[in-house]
Amino acid sequence: MAKKPFCYLDNNATTRVAPEVLEAMMPAFTENWGNPSSAYGFGSRVSRLIDESREKLAALINADPREIVFTSCGTESNNTAFNSALRSQPDKRHLVTTAVEHSANIKFGKHLIEQGYEVTFLPVEEDGLPDLCRLQDSIRPDTALVSVMYANNETGVILPLDEISAFVRAKGVLFHSDAVQALGKIPIDVRSLGIDMMSLSAHKLYAPKGVGALFVRNGVKLHPYLIGGGQERGRRGGTENVPYIIGFGRAAELAKELIETCHSTTRALRDRMENTLLREIPRVARNGSKDRRLGNTSNLSFAGLEAEAILKKLDQLGICASSGSACSTGSLAPSHVLTAMGLPPARALGSIRFSLGRENTDADVDYLLEHLPKIIEQLRAETP
Ligand code: PLP
Repeated sequence: MAKKPFCYLDNNATTRVAPEVLEAMMPAFTENWGNPSSAYGFGSRVSRLIDESREKLAALINADPREIVFTSCGTESNNTAFNSALRSQPDKRHLVTTAVEHSANIKFGKHLIEQGYEVTFLPVEEDGLPDLCRLQDSIRPDTALVSVMYANNETGVILPLDEISAFVRAKGVLFHSDAVQALGKIPIDVRSLGIDMMSLSAHKLYAPKGVGALFVRNGVKLHPYLIGGGQERGRRGGTENVPYIIGFGRAAELAKELIETCHSTTRALRDRMENTLLREIPRVARNGSKDRRLGNTSNLSFAGLEAEAILKKLDQLGICASSGSACSTGSLAPSHVLTAMGLPPARALGSIRFSLGRENTDADVDYLLEHLPKIIEQLRAETP
């Protein structure tokens, strides 16, 4: 029987571990399996490997290695940043973030509100970008943190961190960014961006799931979220996930080498895919800014249809893509990101995110272009 095709267009969800990354990780399971906190040489050798990874990740974002704290995921990094900003400034009880953040931040913000804090979720315009005057006006004397994501996971829209940091810093407020989707897709320079804390995750960067990092600018006090041993210079308790941290470091090194070429190849593939779909399928619309966007992401609405029906048909053909809809109490809720951008529920529910990656080729785009127009035509013919 012929092997079912596999066409993975969901790289913002996760990526396959690169062979070089896996190769770098393996000795940490078989040879260098000591505890990095142990005082003998077998332990300190492992500790050095962690520090090499720290250097590689720091180099990718122009940080000092001492500014990198390894965590278990992007979610933990985000939660740590919010928690630390409030714990280290107990007189401040207000946070500012946007309505299009990852659910890690939206839900943590709501959890803080339940605990008596105040959180401003800034609205965005139709293009997915916040109104900067409103952002500026929302900062108060008791604001502990402003947190704005670098690139949105559903639309790929890139938010103007440099402009935002200028006025956040002028007001003396801590500035955090969730850069989980930006890492490896666009160059990141924490110095020129004026960032105090930045969340990163390995599994969007061709490294394993379950390891992340928080950049904490030298001079910014970090209150640990996981309280335990003195790991990560007392900033994050818990024995380090050594093999995965080594994988993260190797992935960062590869990303630094490949970022330019991958970005232009992926962008060309994405543009060909998107332009053809917009041209060939009636009543398709792009969601989010066309130009201020990651080169790999395309979020499209197919009028009159539900994304889940389209995704099911694509899945039958071995094509992986996703929608931002969330299952809540047995029915589908439209994506909070698209809703915040002002899309009516029906259009949001008919939206699909295609996210390309390093491994995609022209053949993947051709395969999608061969099938998707027919699927849409067929589903529309069946839909009253
Ligand atoms: N932030 C953004 C923008 C994301 O896209 C994701 C994952 O999809 C996360 C945070 C959470 O990262 P992790 O899966 O490592 O917890």
